[in-house]
Amino acid sequence: MLKSVRVVLVNTSHPGNIGGVARAMKNMDFSTLYLVDPKEFPSEKAVARSSGAVDLLDQAKVVGTLDEALAGCNYVVGASARGRHIPWPVLDPRELVEQILQPSVTQESAQSAGNESVCSSMGLPQALDVALVFGREDRGLTNEELHRCHRHVHIPSNPDFSSLNLAAAVQVICYELRMGLLAQSDKQQSEAGEVLEKPRWGTEWDIDLASADELQRLFEHMEKTLIDIDFLDPGNPRQLMTRLRRLYLRSLPDKVEVNVLRGILTATQKLLKSTD
Ligand code: SAH
Repeated sequence: MLKSVRVVLVNTSHPGNIGGVARAMKNMDFSTLYLVDPKEFPSEKAVARSSGAVDLLDQAKVVGTLDEALAGCNYVVGASARGRHIPWPVLDPRELVEQILQPSVTQESAQSAGNESVCSSMGLPQALDVALVFGREDRGLTNEELHRCHRHVHIPSNPDFSSLNLAAAVQVICYELRMGLLAQSDKQQSEAGEVLEKPRWGTEWDIDLASADELQRLFEHMEKTLIDIDFLDPGNPRQLMTRLRRLYLRSLPDKVEVNVLRGILTATQKLLKSTD
């Protein structure tokens, strides 16, 4: 289980990128940022690029060595834009998130799932304090730094143009982590018997969902109107109403939406009567 996660930037040259990273992290609801010997920090350029994520910049811990940045972490992941001479267990961001969020996978089950090369040294502790380490803009992480990492993560980019901007790389990995965490909390909620299909962001949906009988009346109204306008042949209805039901039900209509649709049907029928 994930206990904490920190983003570690090593020797960043451009303060703008530090700001961009702060913004990317805050968008994804992460907050702990370590800066190992940055070239220029604090900096107005970082503040400008952070677009308001200044709290992360203010709280960022500036340290002199990678050692200090990794203190207290038990799962270190190095982000790398390219392959290195010595192969290391490398994951893509989604595989990484799977590992971090499901640390209870046993060596046996990992092997039986065919993941032996990646998981053979599993045995992850229950609570993970994860460091995601990102390298310099011009030459990434050194081999020594990469060798400090339990795992490497590589975003499967174009092999002929593999290096993302630093903040973009942080964004992709934090996004995958957030998606994993959201999926996990959805699962926990559904296991606790809570309602599925509620919006993932913003507040609660503003209108109650239409009830089954309101929907039934809508479909009856719709069917009658479609017959009235000669679109539906009651002698040969085919699958029309079934398909329309599926279309509307797929979108989980709410009470107001059903009222609007009923209003359109009523207006159609009224117009039809007036032209009789
Ligand atoms: N030119 C450098 C890459 C610098 S990009 C090199 O060749 O290594 C700055 C940092 O962003 C990298 O050190 C890495 O941490 C991250 N990054 C960029 N592209 C990445 C990718 N495709 N996968 C994983 N991390 C990446």
